[in-house]
Amino acid sequence: MDSPVLIDVIAIDGPAASGKSTIGRLLAQKLGYLFLDTGCMYRAVTLAALQQDVPVTDETAVTQLTHATQIGITPPQDEADGRLYTVQIDGQDATWTLRSPAVDTHVSLVSSYAGVRQELVRQQRLFGDKGRVVMVGRDIGTVVLPDAPLKLYITASAKERARRRWLDRQQQGHESSFDAILADVERRDQFDSSRQHSPLHPDADAVTIDTTGRSITDILNQILQLINEKQFTIHDSQSTIHNS
Ligand code: C5P
Repeated sequence: MDSPVLIDVIAIDGPAASGKSTIGRLLAQKLGYLFLDTGCMYRAVTLAALQQDVPVTDETAVTQLTHATQIGITPPQDEADGRLYTVQIDGQDATWTLRSPAVDTHVSLVSSYAGVRQELVRQQRLFGDKGRVVMVGRDIGTVVLPDAPLKLYITASAKERARRRWLDRQQQGHESSFDAILADVERRDQFDSSRQHSPLHPDADAVTIDTTGRSITDILNQILQLINEKQFTIHDSQSTIHNS
């Protein structure tokens, strides 16, 4: 029998609204790991540009802004508003503003800039180096943590993803058109997977999970079973738990 592999970091990638953040957060909670949604870092830079009137088309200015902006990501405290984490931009809470349609519109352009990616990937690797982290994004398995022992690629049909995003918006009290959201999801898929730097695609080692029509519990159980089957070992704060 092979000896167990220590899973200190778990890399989760996938397209917009595929369910990867919800799954990543629940998995992190279950394992007692930190959850890091890297999409919110690209969103934070985009929002900072919009708020500070830095033209999102000006690559040099947006790259400088990335270096100058302090992005704080912490677990939620007492806020009863359904947040998965708190994001601060230069000390100001921006958790929900990050999800605005204006940010959705411009975030793919901002995240296509090499200098922006270089700085944010540097910051993300610092979290990876500390270990015990579930990191979610578009390029985690391929670029940020290429040595991650467990890589998941979470996807779903564009219609299902647009439906989820539409429901999220409703719950946040925003009236939105389903067709407009579907068009935005498809536009971002196309942009993210065809960009020059770190395009979205599953890593050769990644396990692809299609979440269309499936419950979160079902998917989470599949991942936990995968961990067991592969004889992975989870690093616990007190001890190392063998799952096989
Ligand atoms: O995951 P989320 O939809 O919040 O990500 C917003 C955008 O940030 C994506 O559409 C993508 O352009 C970018 N992104 C990225 N690399 C990551 C995470 C997100 O390019 N690791």
